[in-house]
Amino acid sequence: MSFRRPRGTRDFLPGEMELRRMLESRICGIFRSFGYREVGTPTFEHLELITAKSGEEIVERLYSFQDKSGRWLALRPEFTAPVMRMYVTSLQSEPKPLRLYYFGPCFRYERPQAGRYREFWQAGVELIGSGTPEAQAEVVALADTVLRELELEYELHVGSVGVLRKLLAEHGAGEEEQVRVMGMIDRGEVEEALQRLEALGGAELAELVEQLISLEGEAREVARRAERVLEGHSGATGELRSLGEIMEALEWYGVEARLNLGIARGLDYYTGMVFEAYVPSLGAEKQVCGGGSYSLAEVFGGKPVPTSGFAFGFDRLLIAAELEPPVERRVMVIPLSREMVPGAVRVASELRGRGVMCELEVMGRKLGKALAGANAKGVEYVVLVGEELRRGRVVLRDMRTGEQREVEVERLGELPELSQPSSP
Ligand code: AMP
Repeated sequence: MSFRRPRGTRDFLPGEMELRRMLESRICGIFRSFGYREVGTPTFEHLELITAKSGEEIVERLYSFQDKSGRWLALRPEFTAPVMRMYVTSLQSEPKPLRLYYFGPCFRYERPQAGRYREFWQAGVELIGSGTPEAQAEVVALADTVLRELELEYELHVGSVGVLRKLLAEHGAGEEEQVRVMGMIDRGEVEEALQRLEALGGAELAELVEQLISLEGEAREVARRAERVLEGHSGATGELRSLGEIMEALEWYGVEARLNLGIARGLDYYTGMVFEAYVPSLGAEKQVCGGGSYSLAEVFGGKPVPTSGFAFGFDRLLIAAELEPPVERRVMVIPLSREMVPGAVRVASELRGRGVMCELEVMGRKLGKALAGANAKGVEYVVLVGEELRRGRVVLRDMRTGEQREVEVERLGELPELSQPSSP
């Protein structure tokens, strides 16, 4: 029997959990400020929901299992498919666009390393029902706002799988072949991808794609170079122009994004614009965000609807953000004898009722030991409950100075030193 954590999972101790909650509330606060509303979905789904979207190959990267009735289920590896399933079953008739956000754990059977876990958290959004340049740009701008407000050193790269897909389609590559080649490029297997393309459309196609996917840099400059590379390929050029409109809308938002035509995104459901954000200081696992525009509702039996979204890797953001722990006022109520325990319980309840966060000494210790214990825990103020309680009074002790004074229980809740400092 092993009592260790399963590989790729983590425990979060109190200090870390406080930081996680703090980051969650900052990110979700920004989502809400753009009008997004939170949704929740089950931690596990029918396996087919995941394979319908990402193909059978994904099964080896999943936690999948059969339940006692023999149904095949999987722990969710991400939220987009579950959210779109929910949209199709419950939200299709809502006024458009729908702005939804989520936060929660995802599970992937991966090889764990720094910044890569088997259980990790995602925070993300889906904007359902509009495919205008400004709608697509909004989603990118929202991701950018979060990264900026967290004061990270990051790079935002925007590209389009549409350009490459159209180019491949013009050379006779079917949907499946497109997905295969895009997958290879995404995994960095560029040589293999180019060989396949050569077999498919000759050296000219391979050369074209090689040039295209190496284009990355300042948006206008890259767009000009790409136009030259794509001359005569009208479908791909059309996609490039659509991307240009999104890049222009991003300028209105004040977002500085680079254009990167090498972003292929592994999952096959993206249709046009795609984007990724990197925090270089994170090293190998530097990608903190991935997203783009897609059409998925029809895969789950709904009407096609243009959608854009992204997911942040919450754990990676937490590492990158290097947040300071929140400042918390710690208060402890100590009964001076066993007889005073009921009174101390009442005082603690009264304090909590007035919004003071406090804990009660429950170790049955003598005063000296209890104070030493409070000190060791970093408690700043102690409320001593003794005989004075008959007069409605207690003794307040400042643990840093050792100063003590008698205070009316009634007035404790008003004392500024006992209230929580406002959060940063
Ligand atoms: P994806 O759904 O693959 O586009 O992932 C979105 C984001 O989730 C990525 O940019 C990563 O930051 C994060 N992420 C993906 N897989 C993991 C993992 N195994 N551990 C930690 N973060 C991850």
